[in-house]
Amino acid sequence: MSTVLNEAPTSIPTLANPSHWTDEPAEAAASGAARMKIERETHKLEKRLCREVGKAIVDFNMIEEGDKVMVCMSGGKDSYALLDILLKLKARAPIHFDLVAVNLDQKQPGFPEHILPEYLATTGVPFHIENEDTYSIVKKLIPEGKTTCSLCSRLRRGILYRVADELGCTKIALGHHRDDILQTLLLNMFFGGKMKSMPPKLVSDDGKHVVIRPLAYVAEKDTTRWAAHRNFPIIPCNLCGSQENLQRKQVGEMLRDWEKRFPGRVENMFNALQNVVPSHLLDGSLYDFQNAKATGIASEDGDKAFDKEEFVAPSPSLPGVQVVQLS
Ligand code: SF4
Repeated sequence: MSTVLNEAPTSIPTLANPSHWTDEPAEAAASGAARMKIERETHKLEKRLCREVGKAIVDFNMIEEGDKVMVCMSGGKDSYALLDILLKLKARAPIHFDLVAVNLDQKQPGFPEHILPEYLATTGVPFHIENEDTYSIVKKLIPEGKTTCSLCSRLRRGILYRVADELGCTKIALGHHRDDILQTLLLNMFFGGKMKSMPPKLVSDDGKHVVIRPLAYVAEKDTTRWAAHRNFPIIPCNLCGSQENLQRKQVGEMLRDWEKRFPGRVENMFNALQNVVPSHLLDGSLYDFQNAKATGIASEDGDKAFDKEEFVAPSPSLPGVQVVQLS
């Protein structure tokens, strides 16, 4: 659209409006505004990712002075995001620690083995590619049509522990995020009869390594956005031909649906994991029900007998809160 001199201006040019500084077409101004909005959102996303990863590291004492952290890279969006954010935090951390990126090439047919080394070379981070044909072992041992994931991941775990030893790594960092943690909690409740999730930091099952999950506070939608922004060369995760775990997929969909219909619910569930009240559950190993006796001292945490509990939940429609009463 060009400026027509003999038409009355629809608005008085002002210095405050960048589109009035020149004859810049309105469309260009609009796309400039859209670009600025995207830049602002991306900047906010980067700050949020760094803040959440930094907080998880501090809250769970994940990385200490002198640590050498092995960052496990699968080629999926989450592992790329993990390495990317850890590199940013390392540059400004008040302590010294080293990172080494490790990928296990399991020799699945069609695995694009050049992608990760090429990408990692651009980051400047030391990296190691471990080549082990676990694909053939799994195919040989598991009958056709049976699920291959449990043997495959057991083999992968053993190899990664060995590599961590060989590289002198003191921590093993995995790219699981908040939604993985919640899905695991629900899967354990639905199918395992346990209140158990995925820990942000725990000693490995062989007792020799410390496994950390620095993305523990990060929502999956943020790693997805960050991966798109950074244009990570994602490697598809279906090369082995195995179906993605159906139950995990269904639980993931359920959580996404809840979040859409009841914004804030997923975050509240995650907060609940950090706010456990053993006296109000039923596990006698966490709370001594056998010896519970009246103390004569009033306590807010005591049983409220017949009172109905009120729950304050975020509401998508009201700016305030919604009170839900359960009978
Ligand atoms: S999806 Fe494939 S690569 Fe992943 S654990 Fe299962 S069998 Fe292994």
